[in-house]
Amino acid sequence: MEFFKPLTTSEKQQGNTTGHTSPEHTKCLIIGSGPAGYTAAIYAARANLKPVLFKGIQPGGQLTTTTEVENFPGYPDGITGPKMMEDLEQQAIRFGTDVRWGIASSVDLTSSPYRVIVDDKIVMEAETVIIATGATAKYLGLQSEEKYKGSGVSACATCDGFFYRGKDVAVVGGGDTACEEALYLAGMCKKVYLIVRKPFLRASKIMQQRIMDAQNIEVLFERNTKEIRGSQVVEEVVLIKRMGEKDESEEVIKIDGFFLAIGHTPNSEIFKPFLRTDETGYIITVPGTPKTNIAGVFACGDVQDKVYRQAVTAAGSGCQAAIEAERYLATK
Ligand code: NDP
Repeated sequence: MEFFKPLTTSEKQQGNTTGHTSPEHTKCLIIGSGPAGYTAAIYAARANLKPVLFKGIQPGGQLTTTTEVENFPGYPDGITGPKMMEDLEQQAIRFGTDVRWGIASSVDLTSSPYRVIVDDKIVMEAETVIIATGATAKYLGLQSEEKYKGSGVSACATCDGFFYRGKDVAVVGGGDTACEEALYLAGMCKKVYLIVRKPFLRASKIMQQRIMDAQNIEVLFERNTKEIRGSQVVEEVVLIKRMGEKDESEEVIKIDGFFLAIGHTPNSEIFKPFLRTDETGYIITVPGTPKTNIAGVFACGDVQDKVYRQAVTAAGSGCQAAIEAERYLATK
């Protein structure tokens, strides 16, 4: 594949896939059970690839942590994240996908058939592998953040912003994602506080300018979040100004929603010895396709997409991955 340079010897490490059960063969193995994985499964099953799908560490993916999904086409009244994932799973099963519990613990993608070890013991041999392991939003790690997840704390403004129309919200982070989320929220909320721990934004200059130009965004530099408070739902956030400095002080801001935008971690660790990833770990695919640097291994959804990260774009790329897997097998 010309798009990719070959991995150097030092980049290539052999996956340790010895000492397990005797291998089970499949034409198409799908790893991950978010919108990308299940959509790939629906298409692969309908193409008669008899796919086996392992649900992974967070069955249903990130959508199971949101409440209402209102922006997925085809649901005029919205649908909860968990219900949507249940429906997708049923649809995948209906066409013959073998959906199983299990976490891919290591892989060996050196040669075809590719080996995937599940739960450190089950060996799968696959002619094609579709990676749909997603990404995990980073949280600050506060107890209060955990307490209000789904009741005012969210890591996705596009998913949950609508519920805060006309209200005051805060976004944490100083990168492009935080700026994008703040600008998106500014279009519907009364006031948006952007909480930045450094005295400057890390985001691109154009995003910084847009933030400064927005009438209802107030950037609070040199602030760290201490605690989120409220009775049933989020009502206020306690910030520490100039933490660790002589003039350190505490302040309380009244808000209704608290949005995290401090980055995502793509779930790509086990694939890194074999697949090209960018500096933050996202699997690199040939632009416009789910093809990785290994023929027959495809990546779809958030594990290869740091820009859009939507259920509908993940589902679209899952469809592409299954179509490419089918074409690859047909030409093989
Ligand atoms: P970044 O890593 O760029 O930024 C994360 C931000 O969160 C930083 O400001 C960082 O602060 C802050 N942060 C991290 N941990 C904490 C913490 N514990 N407490 C408070 N603040 C914290 O992540 P992004 O998701 O913004 O972007 C990732 C990549 O994706 C970037 O390359 C970005 O350019 C790209 N991107 C591109 C977009 C586009 O092209 N449309 C849209 C969105 C992202 P600090 O600066 O102090 O480290």
